[in-house]
Amino acid sequence: MAWTDTDARVPVNDLSRAEDLDELADRARDVILSGRYLDGNEVRGLEGDLTAHGLGHAVAVGNGTDALELALRAVGCVAGDSILTAANAGFYASTAILRIGAFPTYIDVDPTTAAISPSTVLSMRGLPAAVVVTHLYGLLADIEPIAEWCHAQDIPLVEDCAQALGARRGGKLAGTFGDAAACSFYPTKNLGALGDGGAVLSVNPEIAQRARSLRQYGWDERNVVTQHGGRNSRLDELQAAFLRHRLPRLDGLNTTRRGILARYAEALPEMAGRLLWRPDESCTGHLAIVVTRDRDRFRRTLGAGGIDTAIHYPVPDHRQPLWRGTFPPLPETEALCEHVVTLPCFPGMTEDEIGRVCAALGRTR
Ligand SMILES: *Cc1c(COP(=O)(O)O)cnc(C)c1O
Repeated sequence: MAWTDTDARVPVNDLSRAEDLDELADRARDVILSGRYLDGNEVRGLEGDLTAHGLGHAVAVGNGTDALELALRAVGCVAGDSILTAANAGFYASTAILRIGAFPTYIDVDPTTAAISPSTVLSMRGLPAAVVVTHLYGLLADIEPIAEWCHAQDIPLVEDCAQALGARRGGKLAGTFGDAAACSFYPTKNLGALGDGGAVLSVNPEIAQRARSLRQYGWDERNVVTQHGGRNSRLDELQAAFLRHRLPRLDGLNTTRRGILARYAEALPEMAGRLLWRPDESCTGHLAIVVTRDRDRFRRTLGAGGIDTAIHYPVPDHRQPLWRGTFPPLPETEALCEHVVTLPCFPGMTEDEIGRVCAALGRTR
């Protein structure tokens, strides 16, 4: 069945389908009438809910990039530090590292997980001041051996869980393997707000306490500044209330996303490419990523079937123009950036839309 002009295109994402509109409107009304818009019960409640969910101590902040920066500062990173990170993850960690006055040391990723791996970590020269592991596309990285190595070397490990909130292995959640973690509640994330938001997570109460101080001017108690590197990065009560409504649904939403990926995995011809996913809880299905040989041709075939696609991410961090070419090559990272393509994947997709993506995938052989 061919796509015709009368069919709507299948979007990569569509947040306007908000199926929880009435509940969100009720929550917004309660917050508005509470007269308290920052630092109130909803933010404290959300932090408690994240802890009860199994994510350690939680400190709500303004966005995911701030969460990364404050997590790095809270584990002790300072200006001049070398911080190990991947170069295929949208420049978020690089932004946080640069904000501290530290500098990123990029290492290559494993093409099966799209993340840095134990062998790529061990291949680097010299020791970094800290390591950032980004669980990209919702795939929990091979993080246990990295965590062990960091622990043995006394190097703090920070996880970027922005795309992997709810991913787990052996019952252990992404965000609880390292010393601290950052998550984002950007609207398209699996746990999304209706605006910016993020959180620092840590199983270590002292690290969480430092992040708590840093998000509000470096205060110890009100108006008493005890820490360098503080700022204002608050989550507001409205967003916290929306997120508290959505958190209990996170696991279900992740399962729905994984179900969509399972359909794509079945429909994708082997010769056309490979889908980066896993059929278990170590994958949140944040993005449906295909690694394909001829990306332009693949996108044209899908586009002709009415299917929108995107690229996450087209330019690796170490090749961004601001550097003016100072980094050595990273072959796997660069190959992924040239060959990844993102398919539509979001919980509100209709059966018809999923079927149309699958049919178009069948034509990519
Ligand atoms: C979205 C995202 C961030 C940043 O979150 P913001 O809330 O947009 O600042 C960081 N890391 C990854 C991997 C992300 O996907």
